[in-house]
Amino acid sequence: MKIGIFGGSFNPPHNGHVNSLTTVQKKMGFDQIHIIPNSQNPLKIQTEAPAPEHRIEMARLAFSTYGKAFQVDDCELKRGGKSYTIDTIKELRKTHESKDLFLIIGADNFENLSAWKDYKKILEEVNLVVTTRPGYQIPESENEWPDYLNGLVGESDFGSLELTTGRSIEFITLDDLDVSSSELRKKLRVGRPVEKYLPLSVESYIKANKIYRPTNEKITDYKKFTEFCAQVVFDKKGIAVRAFDLVKMGTTTDFTLIASGTSTRHASSMAENLTMAVKEEFNVLPQGVEGVDEGRWVVVDYGALIVHLFYDFVRQEYNLEELWTAGSEIKVKDSKI
Ligand code: ATP
Repeated sequence: MKIGIFGGSFNPPHNGHVNSLTTVQKKMGFDQIHIIPNSQNPLKIQTEAPAPEHRIEMARLAFSTYGKAFQVDDCELKRGGKSYTIDTIKELRKTHESKDLFLIIGADNFENLSAWKDYKKILEEVNLVVTTRPGYQIPESENEWPDYLNGLVGESDFGSLELTTGRSIEFITLDDLDVSSSELRKKLRVGRPVEKYLPLSVESYIKANKIYRPTNEKITDYKKFTEFCAQVVFDKKGIAVRAFDLVKMGTTTDFTLIASGTSTRHASSMAENLTMAVKEEFNVLPQGVEGVDEGRWVVVDYGALIVHLFYDFVRQEYNLEELWTAGSEIKVKDSKI
């Protein structure tokens, strides 16, 4: 039995996932591929997500026409909490040998693998299949191997590596499809066309079940909500906290909040604190969070409110406030600049 393992948030599953897995399957010929929606990605700030049953169903729909090797596996959702791939691998290892297990990841995850829990153990317990993904490189020569592979590569051949752990890494080049779930969620929320990126069955399911709605019904007064967020950011020592009501401007965002931190770490930690405080007060998670890894410009998306948290130095470069002067400024505690 040759088994593929493909994990992700699948929030929602899209043609990038389908393209990846069908191409990999042509090359690898797995007997089974476990498509595993995670419960919670330990490396991402939690965002608003449809109920697990919806993600399971969407994943089923996305892969339903590709044969019975493609199976959606709910083990991580059943386990709950943070989903660590190593735990899922340990489960599969109870019934399969390491040589038969292949973890399929995109180049983004390959670049970042050393941030995963027990990644060295992962490289002992399973083989990897790494696919291309727009915006990320797969290594083309020895000097492009990620640092964490130092000392682990035995033989290398064009397109595959034998590791000293006894496992291998196979690189597969896809006909790249530039799509991500986070981009799609944004498009869906503002009603932009998505048919290029989503399997039709998934798109219909999303419409029928009213998933990815534009604003959050739990927030009844976005102005007050904006003021609450401004206060949190101010309490976390945000600099030059300013908020704008953009309703008159007719943009897709009604409110915006901007502040900066003295360092990239400060900007990221303000975002983390903000999402925790909002969760506690309103029981609401953001619809998306971007840039938190780098902390130069972190965007926290609450639907009708978008929060921009900058490393101050970067804020000066963009001068976003200039775009909002046609709106009206909301008085918040620290609006001096
Ligand atoms: P998000 O935008 O919310 O971070 P995502 O689009 O990256 O989501 P995931 O469900 O987290 O989707 O990804 C699952 C797996 O699919 C990962 O290994 C990822 O690298 C891979 N993947 C996602 N999109 C693509 C794509 N367009 N091309 C190739 N691989 C992809």
